[in-house]
This record gives sequence, structure tokens and C-alpha cells, in this order.
Amino acid sequence: MSVPEVSEAIPLARPVLGEREEQRVLEVLRSGRLSLGPLLGEFEREFAPRVGAAHASAVSSGTAGLHLALRAVGVKDGDDVVTTPFSFVASANVAVYERARPVFADIDPVTLNLDPDAAAAAVTDRTTALLPVHVFGYPADVAAFEKLGLPIVEDACEALGAVDADGIPVGGRGHPAVFAFYANKQLTTGEGGMLTTADAAMKERIDSERNQGRAPNMDWLDHDRLGFNYRLSDLACALGLAQLERLDDMLAARARVAAAYREALSEIEGLELPCPDVAQARRGWFVYVVQLPSGFDRDDVVRALAERGIPSKPYFPAVHLMSFYRERFGHREGEFPVCEDVAARSIALPFFPQMTESQVERVAESVRDVVGR
Ligand SMILES: *Cc1c(COP(=O)(O)O)cnc(C)c1O
Repeated sequence: MSVPEVSEAIPLARPVLGEREEQRVLEVLRSGRLSLGPLLGEFEREFAPRVGAAHASAVSSGTAGLHLALRAVGVKDGDDVVTTPFSFVASANVAVYERARPVFADIDPVTLNLDPDAAAAAVTDRTTALLPVHVFGYPADVAAFEKLGLPIVEDACEALGAVDADGIPVGGRGHPAVFAFYANKQLTTGEGGMLTTADAAMKERIDSERNQGRAPNMDWLDHDRLGFNYRLSDLACALGLAQLERLDDMLAARARVAAAYREALSEIEGLELPCPDVAQARRGWFVYVVQLPSGFDRDDVVRALAERGIPSKPYFPAVHLMSFYRERFGHREGEFPVCEDVAARSIALPFFPQMTESQVERVAESVRDVVGR
């Protein structure tokens, strides 16, 4: 029986893992110190300068880091946090953890990031923090948010390697900024995150709250504040340290794949590609999200691509229209028209550092098939 020739399936995302990762994780296994060992501090000290930060605290996830960051800037029960509805749901959820209210404002149609004018209009005397997201690795206009004079927490979970339009690396402005290390991010520890800050006292508080509220020099069963278990294991830190060694290569490879996509997709009428960098801004490439030409149903396109063997995913659905947010906060269609229009037309295509030009071409051909006219 003859088997039809099929080319290897293209995944949506795939981490780069090699001998170095195996070696470093094995060292931890053999050492027997699986958590709160020496690699936690080593990972933090290696990471901070990579994003221009004075301090870094490793945590168990990006979400955990955002939660601790909001607490650290003083968000409390009954407060408002102004943020974007075009994000992964975690950036809104963390406000709800503290019984604060995520107050959404619409996005910029080009960068897809929180629009500073819309954010300013959403600020009231209940607003105690702003939470911009560097969506898809494109730097949000944090300099504009700074003018509003409120504490800022940056969701940089998709933005490792990004640089703001004024040349400051994302993570380097001094506000708490949070990076994430889930398996599809630019750097992975399986699960994990890192909070950076310019403030030594804030780092001390974060380090305590991630470890059940235990002060650094405290006896092990004394705790002077409420804390969580948001620790990152030494196994995960070992993986992160190995990944840091190849971070520049992985970021460059992602940028190369993005350039190949731009070239391969630029002819398709009405298809919107990720915005190019302006001024000194640099995108830290995370995903390759395109907005479909009007007249195409997003879910139909995802199905048609799947039939051609190409995985893709709606990216992102609007947070305020998710059932929990509708029910809890009474949101409905029409509140944030730019976000809703973009969300209805956006899909993520396969994207990872080792993606070859011929794989990019295969994806592009299928996209052309499905949405080309
Ligand atoms: C990945 C991500 C997070 C959360 O990261 P986890 O490590 O999965 O908790 C938060 N915000 C955004 C925008 C993300 O993409």
C-alpha cells in the first residue's frame, strides 16, 4: 500500500531546547536542591541587566508576577485599574484577585496597544494604577502613560527583547514590569515569570510575598505579612539560565521568521500585518498575528487553514466580552469598537525561531488560498 507523501506538520509554536538545557537541569537534579537553591538568585541576576533593570524577582508565572506587582503599587479592594481589553485574560484577572475593578479603555488601531487618550479618559479618582500590555511584543506608549501621574505596572509577558520608542528597553523604565516564560514565549522555563523593578524595597516585598510572606532573614515559620506560594523552582531557573545564553539568537531568529512572513504575505489584498517599528521602538517578536480582510469570518478561516494542515488561532478575543467579564461587570458589545473589530479579525499563524522559509511559504500559500481574491 502506498503512503501519500505528507510534509511534516507545522506546529503553532515550539520552544528551542537543546543540550545546554538538559545539562543545566540535570545538574540541579543531581544536586538534590530543587527549590530555593542557588539558581534562583543566579537567574535573577543574569536576567535583570538583559532588560536594563536594577532588580528582578523570579516567580511561578507571569500571572503571579502581575498579581504581586499590582499589590506592590498599592492596588486594593474597591480600586480601579485602567487596562486594555485586547490582551490575554490574565492582565485583567489580576485586578479582580485584589477585588479591584479592571476598567477597560480602547486600543490604538495600529499598534493594538492601550490608547493613551482613551486611558486618560477612563481615569477617575478611584483609579490607583495603570496596567498597559505590550501586546504581541510591540512596546506600548509608556512615556504617555507616565504623564498621567499614576503608578504603572507593565505587562511585558509578550515583550522580552522589546524597546520603547524613546530607546529604553521594556523592563528598564523602573516601573514593575512582568515577563512570562510559558512554553510559547520568547524564553521558556515551562511555566514561570520574572518581575523587574528599579526599587530595592519593592523587590524585598515581592520576594517575601512570593514565599508566604516570609522576610528574607526570618526564621522559617515566622511570617510578617500575607503571602503566596509563587516561587519558581531551581529546575525551572536552570532551564531559564540555559535559555538566556541563547536568547539573542532566538530573538534574532524570530525577527527573521517575521521578515519572511512580511515578504510572503504582503501581496494579499486587505490582509493587515503587524505594524512596523517606529522611532527607536523595537518589537520583541512573540507571535505572528494578522488581521483578516473584511468579509472573512475568523472561525471559518481557522477551519479552512486547519483543513490544509495549518494550525492557527483567534488571537485575542476581547477580554470584556468573555462570559465572566460580561456577567461580573456587565460588559457588552460596542463598548470598545476598535478592540472588537481587531479581535474579530485577528488570527495567530505558526511562529517559532526554528521555522524555515519553506514552512513560512507553506503557511503563506494556504493563507493566500483561503483569503486571497
Ligand atoms: C502569557 C501572558 C501572561 C501570563 O503569563 P502566564 O505565565 O501564563 O501566567 C499575561 N499577560 C499576557 C499578555 C500574556 O501573553
